[in-house]
Amino acid sequence: MDRRMSLHDVEAAAERIRGRVRETPVKPSPGLSARAGGPVWLKCEHRQETGAFKLRGAAHAVARLGAVAGVTTASTGNHGRALAFAARQRGVPAVICLSRLVPGNKREAIAGLGAEARVTGASQDEAFEEARRLERDEGFALIPPFDHADVIAGQGTLGLEILAQLPDAATIAVPLSGGGLLSGVALAAKALRPGIRIVGISMARGAAMAASLAAGHPVEVAELETLADSLGGGVGRDNRLTFAMCRDLVDEVILLSEAEIAAGLRHLAREDGEIVEGAAAVGAGAILGGKLRADRGPLVLILSGGNIDPALHARIMREQDA
Ligand SMILES: *Cc1c(COP(=O)(O)O)cnc(C)c1O
Repeated sequence: MDRRMSLHDVEAAAERIRGRVRETPVKPSPGLSARAGGPVWLKCEHRQETGAFKLRGAAHAVARLGAVAGVTTASTGNHGRALAFAARQRGVPAVICLSRLVPGNKREAIAGLGAEARVTGASQDEAFEEARRLERDEGFALIPPFDHADVIAGQGTLGLEILAQLPDAATIAVPLSGGGLLSGVALAAKALRPGIRIVGISMARGAAMAASLAAGHPVEVAELETLADSLGGGVGRDNRLTFAMCRDLVDEVILLSEAEIAAGLRHLAREDGEIVEGAAAVGAGAILGGKLRADRGPLVLILSGGNIDPALHARIMREQDA
């Protein structure tokens, strides 16, 4: 990309994926509103087809393809699932390359969507090598999970949808990993509402984008196990788009302990009736941890995904708040 992305890219993406993704509901959270000192809304994107917002970017990227042998990616799970679904929708073969760290339920889900789930490598980076090889040698289109203009524009449609549903939103809290979601949502939201605040939230254990923003350039961090497994992975040393977009568009980055993420997940289940994965619980965790308030006006938490192993969810529910 040698030009900057704009609101127009996101609006065009919304046209292209209309009817292929769900418009997900928003609902108020009385308990979190009381804790945050102002109205808190939950954007229920965990109820998206395939269980996460990633379908928006994947559906858009596939819609933009010419003739290819197939599509491939390396993914911690939700992007792979989304790409598998989007490819099948369009009748395109998909090979999803996964590292051995990816939970079994996510691997099975990908295979169940008609794609090949190829387990290769001990890290996200090693799985990515196989996807690169398919692109280089077999005529596949490699659709990366975040650092791609069509993916970012697709994720940005979530920002358009939030502002259509909640025109007076003052702050949007975005789970942050590679930054495709934050880049797209912030691009759309700030173009439409220049004063809106965008807060990125990651786990303290292995937050590559947060470390990169602090350093002023993309850096690598050790990948650690976390309840927010969908927020793991690096930003890429040769990051082209999302590092600069996050740097320019994010107002604040918040880091959470594992205990705070668990408390957020429990609150969403018990008080709001929403079963989400760890990555999607960070907004609630930040409010409960006293790190995020709604005193400037309506605060929207993106519940970004719901793909959690039921046994893990049950285990977290049995633990006590720290
Ligand atoms: C991918 C993902 C994120 C983070 O999105 P990025 O674009 O990588 O920042 C957050 N939550 C869930 C559930 C995800 O799958």
